[in-house]
Amino acid sequence: MTGLIADTSDHRLIRQSTAAIADRYGHGYYAERAREGGHIAELWGELGQAGLLGVHLPAEYGGGGAGLAELTVVTEELAAHGLPLLIAVISPAICGSILAAHASDAMKASWLPGLADGTRRMAFALTEPDAGSNSRNVSTTARRAGPGWVISGGKYYISAADECEALLLVARDDSVAGGLSLFVVPTGAPGLTLTPIPTALVSPDRQFTVFLDDVAVGEDALIGMAGQGFRQVFAGLNPERILAAALCNGVGRYAVAKAAEYARQRKVWSEPIGAHQGIAHPLAQAHVGVELARLATERAAELFDAGQDAAEAANIAKLAAADAALAALDQAIQTHGGNGLALEYGLADLWFVTRLMRTAPVSREMVLNYLATHSLGLPPSY
Ligand SMILES: Cc1cc2nc3c(=O)[nH]c(=O)nc-3n(C[C@H](O)[C@H](O)[C@H](O)COP(=O)(O)OP(=O)(O)OC[C@H]3O[C@@H](n4cnc5c(N)ncnc54)[C@H](O)[C@@H]3O)c2cc1C
Repeated sequence: MTGLIADTSDHRLIRQSTAAIADRYGHGYYAERAREGGHIAELWGELGQAGLLGVHLPAEYGGGGAGLAELTVVTEELAAHGLPLLIAVISPAICGSILAAHASDAMKASWLPGLADGTRRMAFALTEPDAGSNSRNVSTTARRAGPGWVISGGKYYISAADECEALLLVARDDSVAGGLSLFVVPTGAPGLTLTPIPTALVSPDRQFTVFLDDVAVGEDALIGMAGQGFRQVFAGLNPERILAAALCNGVGRYAVAKAAEYARQRKVWSEPIGAHQGIAHPLAQAHVGVELARLATERAAELFDAGQDAAEAANIAKLAAADAALAALDQAIQTHGGNGLALEYGLADLWFVTRLMRTAPVSREMVLNYLATHSLGLPPSY
């Protein structure tokens, strides 16, 4: 399939390496692991070994020394093979980017090589039941205790917490008036419990409520500066949006490609169903949406990597990609008739993981709030 993205030679190599691994797993592996409640350790290990999970991380800490643009190629290509891994957005992109930007040298040396080669994973714990989209309102609190902190509170919808060795946790820090701090908290720490949240998602990455009951962490658990958590978390928000967009773009490509293939083959009248404009035009339209979203995503990653303000582009890319992927998937299901709902065809089980991207990691409404106030200069409603 052609499109709007012309890969550089480096990107082509990264895409080919990712595709070579993803081809050996495919959507069947993803769906089976999701249904059986298993993880994707082998796939993750191979991606890490091939240097694909840390392409954007600094070379002195085991990464590839490239940028987010390279990680978007990996994430998109995985999803284009029916492998839309939430953990790919969370551990390398959000947590890796925050640690690379703000952690001490010792913390970088301790964590980044493992995140890059896939031997260690970190979940991201920001959202709380009572704060929701208003992240400034988190009430999980870190109290100074001796040289470290004691953390209490709760987080919800923390993806893949059971697969990860630690959480990158956002907490209100009582040592800094009104400030938030970021901590690396081991998931096995005494006082920390994970409770699964049953959802409709078909994904090997499960969702958890996290309870923290006086969880003690040392001085070295703090990321960067105490009280600067909100500012520091921004280092992960644009990568989060850009990588969520990349994941959606991959799902969009997967859906359009599958539907076009089916529409070329399936014949119930004298011509294949793809000859009917009722099938062909919505698919061509879906292709337009996905390609425009890929272009926006590439642009957002390019701005981010150039050290420019990528927030507007990242928000545009995320919103466009989520909508385009969902439209493409819906049309792919429609193109398959009854088979669109059969698990065998690998479409219906992607519905909720794709639908999720309109709600998380940032909701459509919060993206539109950002664009309305920052791009259009409209007054904020909150
Ligand atoms: C499957 C899944 C995985 C997730 N993974 C993680 C994770 O790993 N880590 C993590 O920290 N969080 C995670 N989240 C949480 C996710 O980021 C939040 O669900 C999302 O940000 C919305 O917050 P909320 O659910 O509390 O909704 P609410 O904040 O209660 O919002 C409800 C609705 O109101 C809208 N709304 C709220 N405020 C405004 C406003 N000012 N203007 C207009 N509309 C508004 C929202 O857009 C939404 O449509 C995940 C969520 C899901 C469902």
